[in-house]
Amino acid sequence: MQILFATNNIHKVQEVQSVMPKNFSVLSLPALRLDVSLHEHETTIEGNAISKVKQVWTVVQKNKWSISCFADDSGLEVAALNNAPGVHSARYYSQNATDVQNIKHLLDQMQGIAERQAQFRTVIALIHKERLHLFTGIVKGTILTFPKGNSGFGYDPLFLPNGYQKTFAQMTMQEKNRCSHRYLAVEKMISFFAKMKATG
Ligand code: IMP
Repeated sequence: MQILFATNNIHKVQEVQSVMPKNFSVLSLPALRLDVSLHEHETTIEGNAISKVKQVWTVVQKNKWSISCFADDSGLEVAALNNAPGVHSARYYSQNATDVQNIKHLLDQMQGIAERQAQFRTVIALIHKERLHLFTGIVKGTILTFPKGNSGFGYDPLFLPNGYQKTFAQMTMQEKNRCSHRYLAVEKMISFFAKMKATG
């Protein structure tokens, strides 16, 4: 079965492909030569995921392709900051902020705050047989007072998942993938397809 991932990020496509069952082929926009620049103007993580999948769904319908498609959106939600940066995670410090700037900004915002619980949240929006389905993956943890580790991206060096002794940035990609919010959301989508297959 072919499934279209509404993203231009080839790394995300490879990550998802690596955990999908072998009979699934995850296609990207560039693989189908689709030049869609996806807008992320919504005010919630789920809103952005839905908006992105709908943008691509419009193109799929125009071409009369019978293919399911999905989009994801993620963010870091810090309890003591009213769930900020949330949907603004990529642009927390400024519009074109680097990871280093965002990390420093988060540490500045959390200075003197003892309550450091946070979660990463991913929402996948899937359009399958013309119906919209949402799958959420959440990983809970704490925000450290200084960065640790050099792997990964985004806020990984500050995020210590509950039950682990390493930040996301101290884990190998395989270790992180096994407990990440994105993986948990993908797992739910996989279960959905398995259920669909079982019920015909
Ligand atoms: P996206 O929706 O997956 O592109 O994520 C939006 C932003 O959330 C990223 O640019 C990062 O700042 C942050 N983020 C999402 N997932 C992760 C993660 O696994 N580690 C660190 N930061 C993340």
